[in-house]
Amino acid sequence: MAMKVGVIGSGMMGAGIAQVSAAAGHQVVLTDVALDRAEKGKAGIEKLLARQVAKGTLEEAAAAATLARISPAGDTAGLADADFVIEAATENEGLKQKIFAGLTLAPHALLATNTSSISITMLGASTDRPDRFLGLHFFNPVPVMQLVEIIPGLATSDATRAAARDYIGTLGKTAIVSEDSPSFIVNRVLCPMLNEAIFALGEGVGSVVDIDTGLRLGANHPMGPLTLADFVGLDTLHAIMLVMQKATGDPKYRPAPLLSKYVEAGWFGRKSGRGFYDYSGEAPVPTR
Ligand code: NAD
Repeated sequence: MAMKVGVIGSGMMGAGIAQVSAAAGHQVVLTDVALDRAEKGKAGIEKLLARQVAKGTLEEAAAAATLARISPAGDTAGLADADFVIEAATENEGLKQKIFAGLTLAPHALLATNTSSISITMLGASTDRPDRFLGLHFFNPVPVMQLVEIIPGLATSDATRAAARDYIGTLGKTAIVSEDSPSFIVNRVLCPMLNEAIFALGEGVGSVVDIDTGLRLGANHPMGPLTLADFVGLDTLHAIMLVMQKATGDPKYRPAPLLSKYVEAGWFGRKSGRGFYDYSGEAPVPTR
């Protein structure tokens, strides 16, 4: 059944969630801190859809219909009658809590967070509906990646879990369920591996190209860990490692010093034009 879906944050993940929701027939309000950011998110979706049309993998009419279902907004007023609201703003506990405190939603609405690592139970407790709150962890790029992790918090009701599974079903994606444990299932395993690759780079064990080629050809990963870290966003990876370190107290999760340095420099990876590769030219160029 088509729903009204609200998406908060129109960066990489929010735009992706808006795109797949609209493609599935849901009406979408895509919000951010300012209208121009939300419009930029929608413009990015338009570009991706146009590319699919040019490749012949999507009908022009379907692309137009998907776009027409997405309304950008500079605030959350338009979410008042949404059925399902998904928060995909910057990975910061205080910021997310502030967003939830400022929301006015319909009593029946479900609220989800796309956080990569923050406690769902804790975020849920800061909302007016912990029973209708849960984690829905999409993967990047959302239109391509098949998986969504469903993370119920302590207070999440069975009906909320079931409704979330139904929504994921409408997107044609596969759901797995994870306990509300720091970084859930996939990032619990993946992020320490990316962080370890950055330790290795910082210690001079290998170059960017050798580390990436090593894992691609030696472990059969489709993408090297430094390429993937740039793709995830080094600020996001850094934030995830800090959450894991704080939540577990285990020093094995400390961010690699080189990762912290890159974040201090504003080198966030693909989205900022520079990370372990430089993205200013035609093809990415390794920087170390
Ligand atoms: P991003 O930096 O691309 O986008 C974040 C967006 O949030 C920006 O457009 C920013 O303007 C907006 N924002 C900031 N404060 C806001 C506010 N108060 N209200 C509304 N919007 C606000 O980040 P992203 O990669 O899209 O990550 C978003 C969330 O998704 C994070 O919680 C992240 O951990 C999670 N996530 C990221 C990935 C990934 O691979 N990047 C994968 C899964 C989940």
